[in-house]
Amino acid sequence: MTTDTNCLFCNIVAGTIPSTQVYSDELVIVFKDINPKAQIHLLVVPREHIISLNEIEQRHDVLIGHIIRLLPKIAKEQGLNDGFRTVINTGAGGGQVVFHLHVHLLGGKGLHGVGFVE
Ligand code: AMP
Ligand code: ZN
Repeated sequence: MTTDTNCLFCNIVAGTIPSTQVYSDELVIVFKDINPKAQIHLLVVPREHIISLNEIEQRHDVLIGHIIRLLPKIAKEQGLNDGFRTVINTGAGGGQVVFHLHVHLLGGKGLHGVGFVE
């Protein structure tokens, strides 16, 4: 599995940089965003170092399916029974700052309008 020792989220996956994890399995970890944009703001991060959606290949189909099916489960565990928002920023032009694929899961108070803007 690809990892990059210079990558923030690879270091969080490895445990060398701390995070507040809420879920973990063989394919992904889920932890709290350090700068939450809503009452609940989690990041779903593959253990594999994949830069962005631009680097997704067919071999990632199992991982992507896993993440999509996991999102509503995590949302319900977090008490987001009314619904939740998911955001994937891709590339600098898409607002991506950490170049290790991740899905933002947002919900609860503070969630307004469409998407989120820095
Ligand atoms: P993006 O703009 O999609 O690349 O989002 C990167 C996200 O990572 C931002 O929402 C940051 O607040 C979050 N972030 C950056 N550093 C950390 C960290 N050490 N722990 C948790 N979240 C972080
Ligand atoms: Zn990485």
